[in-house]
Amino acid sequence: MFVDVSEIRNSPGHRFHYDLTEEIKPVVVGNDEIRFAKPLVVNLDILNTGKTLVFNGRIKGDTELVCSRCLETYPFHLDAGFTEEFCHASDLAELAESGQDTEEIHVYDGNRIKLEDIIIENIVLGIPMKSVCGENCRGLCAVCGANLNKEECDCKTEDIDPRLAVLQKYFES
Ligand SMILES: [Zn+2]
Ligand SMILES: [Zn+2]
Repeated sequence: MFVDVSEIRNSPGHRFHYDLTEEIKPVVVGNDEIRFAKPLVVNLDILNTGKTLVFNGRIKGDTELVCSRCLETYPFHLDAGFTEEFCHASDLAELAESGQDTEEIHVYDGNRIKLEDIIIENIVLGIPMKSVCGENCRGLCAVCGANLNKEECDCKTEDIDPRLAVLQKYFES
């Protein structure tokens, strides 16, 4: 996934806008593989500051996550924004001399900027680690494992600590 910046590089003070659609391979987040059925939409605003190119981007896509309470998959809409700054390798020395902190600045060569790593990084940041299908998800019964969103069970679960539930079952049998 590359952006051709040859024209922007020669236009200090100008801003360019791009709407890209990108196919992306499954991204590993924690124990899950995040797959996007349709290509991601990437909206890019690129500003040539004279010394650097500042990318303001938005990544949108639809995927499925597994609920951490009920373990069912549910649709998740990713909408992640990012800002990244790029400096051409040949301008880096000058930028550093001007006193600007270059630690956070990406260096590129030639006329193309690779976006893939930034997009993957932002997908990882945009996916909640412990996600739930909905605020009201009732999860699984700690005793019988029934999905309480779909069925009621007869287990007495009030005030039972899930860790003690196993023990209680043991004493009942
Ligand atoms: Zn759930
Ligand atoms: Zn139950």
